[in-house]
Amino acid sequence: MTRTVAEHLRIVSAALPTAAGLGAEEIDVRSALHRITASDVVSPVDLPVFRNSQMDGFAVRAADVASVPVRMPVYGIVAAGDAPRDLPDGTTIKIMTGAPVPNGADCIVPVEDTVLGGATVTINRGRSAGDFVREPGSDVRLGELLVPAGQKLGIQHIAALAAAGIRTVRVRRRVHAAVITTGAELVPAGTPLGPGQIFDSNSTALATGILTNEAEVIAVKHCVDDPRQFLAMLRSVIKRVDVVFTSGGVSMGDFEVVREALTPLGGWFDHVGMQPGGPQGLTILDGVPVISFPGNPVSTLISFQIFARPALRALAGLPPVESETATLCSDVVSPRDKRQYLRGRMTDAGVEVVSGPGSHLIAAMARADVLIEIPAEVTGLKAGSGVQVWPL
Ligand code: AMP
Ligand code: MG
Repeated sequence: MTRTVAEHLRIVSAALPTAAGLGAEEIDVRSALHRITASDVVSPVDLPVFRNSQMDGFAVRAADVASVPVRMPVYGIVAAGDAPRDLPDGTTIKIMTGAPVPNGADCIVPVEDTVLGGATVTINRGRSAGDFVREPGSDVRLGELLVPAGQKLGIQHIAALAAAGIRTVRVRRRVHAAVITTGAELVPAGTPLGPGQIFDSNSTALATGILTNEAEVIAVKHCVDDPRQFLAMLRSVIKRVDVVFTSGGVSMGDFEVVREALTPLGGWFDHVGMQPGGPQGLTILDGVPVISFPGNPVSTLISFQIFARPALRALAGLPPVESETATLCSDVVSPRDKRQYLRGRMTDAGVEVVSGPGSHLIAAMARADVLIEIPAEVTGLKAGSGVQVWPL
């Protein structure tokens, strides 16, 4: 049975794992950028950890510098990394930023407000108790929330975790994905092309799509058009992943390897009302979705963007891709009952179509930065018409 794009998108999205289904893992904070916290992280320490100076200057008692200028003996010096010292009455201790405030001192006079003369210093400006003193726990207290559950970790969160001395963090597990491309004609780049052979580009395109959506590529494999080899390959990866993407072998010709292998296992293979990307497949094998795209490189890429990207982005905590309205720069025609995705490029004048309709035109697609969506019921639009465009 034929499906609309919206129906197939809903079914594919529902087949992909949920955040709860993915579970959580404990990872090194240094590799946690862009990961999503699975639980609240509370601070295991007070920050600041101890009472320390916010300035280079002189630690004093505020009462001793109430009337200025005043000359005072310099009892010593305390640097960052030193242990705290005691401040005798009527004296000062020279202090550096980050050094522990001496016991007995209650404020810091910045060095700019002083004149050092040998063993004494003249203080030219008074200060109140607490000035330039960083109290322990004034940033966050031990046991207080540092980063909440569900937070996508940016540099600021990682820095806060590191400051609290936290080395590992519990994050949502990423989606683990495998790619299997099919086709007897395909060889990897770097191999000289024999007669009838082409380079396998879908393996790289799909792996890049997975990475772009902050999922992990667990395996990238290629097989010839042999259903038994395909099934063996699929079974070898399926235990290790949350989803498998396949390319090729799903349409109506002979040697449709994916369709032949998976239809007997309950796979759905049929047409979705779209162009390019009409033939599609979806199989749940051992509980893992196997999402099958047609092999033409433009079809594969567009299928991935339309059917896989939304759910993968949501699982990665990325905002949904939004369409916007743009003005067509030229007339377009479109097949009845198929939602067409044209390759477009945004210009000051509107959106230009940059490729012919062939779904093999992958080099032309490299000129595109958006997909232009032409609704299924529309068979033609004039230049100047408004269309929805989706960023690639
Ligand atoms: P298929 O869907 O297997 O019938 O393939 C349709 C077209 O896409 C054929 O011209 C294939 O050679 C081409 N094709 C299939 N898979 C790939 C791939 N991984 N990389 C590049 N082209 C491909
Ligand atoms: Mg093929």
